[in-house]
Amino acid sequence: KSVEEQELFGHPKGLFYLFFAELWERFSFYGMRALLTLYMVDVVFAALASRDFAAAAVYASYGSLVYASTVIGGRISDKILGMRKSIFLGGILMSIGHFVLAIEHDITFFLALALIVVGNGFFKPNISTFVGSLYKDGDSRKDSGFVIFYMGINIGGFVAPLICGYLGKTFGWHYGFGLAGIGMLLGLIFFYSGIKKNVFGDRGLPPVKGVLEKTILGVKQGIMIPILAVLSAPVIAYLLSSYKSLGEKGTFLEDDNIVNIIFYLIAIGIAVFLINVLIKATVDERKKLVVAILITFFMTLFWGFHELSGSVITLFAERNVNLTFIDASQTNALNSMFIIILSIPISMLFAYLRKKKMDPRTPYKFGLGLAFAGISFFILSLSSGSANAEGMVPFSYLLIMYFLISVGELFMSPVGLSKITDLSPKRIVAFMMGIWFLASAFAFQIVGFISKQLAVESDDKNVGGLDTLGIYTDGFLLISKYALGAAVIVLVLSPLIKK
Ligand code: GLN
Repeated sequence: KSVEEQELFGHPKGLFYLFFAELWERFSFYGMRALLTLYMVDVVFAALASRDFAAAAVYASYGSLVYASTVIGGRISDKILGMRKSIFLGGILMSIGHFVLAIEHDITFFLALALIVVGNGFFKPNISTFVGSLYKDGDSRKDSGFVIFYMGINIGGFVAPLICGYLGKTFGWHYGFGLAGIGMLLGLIFFYSGIKKNVFGDRGLPPVKGVLEKTILGVKQGIMIPILAVLSAPVIAYLLSSYKSLGEKGTFLEDDNIVNIIFYLIAIGIAVFLINVLIKATVDERKKLVVAILITFFMTLFWGFHELSGSVITLFAERNVNLTFIDASQTNALNSMFIIILSIPISMLFAYLRKKKMDPRTPYKFGLGLAFAGISFFILSLSSGSANAEGMVPFSYLLIMYFLISVGELFMSPVGLSKITDLSPKRIVAFMMGIWFLASAFAFQIVGFISKQLAVESDDKNVGGLDTLGIYTDGFLLISKYALGAAVIVLVLSPLIKK
């Protein structure tokens, strides 16, 4: 057998190189994310009474752009660069971004985030479609391949907040960010060694021979694209730094900044585009498309609750949870911890149910996923009943909350990842992956909206305890009602969607 055809644990060998590359990339991504909100509140916006609001705005803009950039990165990869070059370009930009975070704050802070935004745009959709490309159409191992890959994501997401959080707390924020950058470089080394060992065959090369040599304005595309990518960073940095709302309090746009407006416009654009496509589609296509749209929409809602972990939940952990062994940034490891523990049992459960022909179809899974999100926030809202005299609640509530939302995630996210690579035509697969991640991008707009509502205004940056408990737990109760409402709607609609 050629190296390309060799297997490890019943899967193509290439999967394991992608596994480690993505593990380290997510290590850098989540190591940084664990520190981001606390760092903004403690350092970047410390002087403002509305530091929570500013941090919520930047966290949301960063999250939206970091996932929206995957649409462009995916498109450029399908048309010009191919997956390999895109992954290298993205990885290098991301690690530079993390290193810039490690040296200074102020202006370079936004530039660093922008580099990560651009880098992720090239890296994330391509590493995901690369996994799909290892399997032939209809290969039944593909789903489990993605479960393994998702495990890699979460090993990175588990270890990083623990170590980067520790470094950040003990030696200073910048050490935590620096380690994230080193993690990203390790990811690239794994990817490179896969290429050197030839485990990918000829996958991931540019789509057309000679396309890199074609010129734009006299410069070869292969050189022009990295230049444009770097040049886009200051523009994105500018957008990220425009966190101030466009309207005064009590007026229209009181909560919205430029990035929010951009995403409203994108949403309108997408709606017009989809309606157009739906009108032109055949009846059969229309049905499939409506399902795809609904599923993406539900996924958006789910991430909108889930991604609160890096903002409101981290602040809640810092200000209102009795933590002994770990600190607030490190609580970001809990989601990934539960994914690691639960992903094999849950995929075995689905496989068992499939054998018995009793497995829930995709729409039911999505409804249940949302229901788990709703229950998780409901439990967290109950924590106020067990608060001590200082307004601090037991850690167990946070633990149960993360357990439940992680179960919900496993009902939705790996399933979707695998389905997208199945349903998309090969020549636009990375682009379609970008569209899938657009759900995460819009989710961060929801996150921003909620986090701004729960932003605490105070002259004291160490605010917490009884001053903040009610704000958070009332908020969690409201969130749980919305999530459960959405779940009920999905479950009621499910028989229709299934048809
Ligand atoms: N935790 C998963 C990852 O990092 C999914 C994140 C998302 O799509 N919002 O890949």
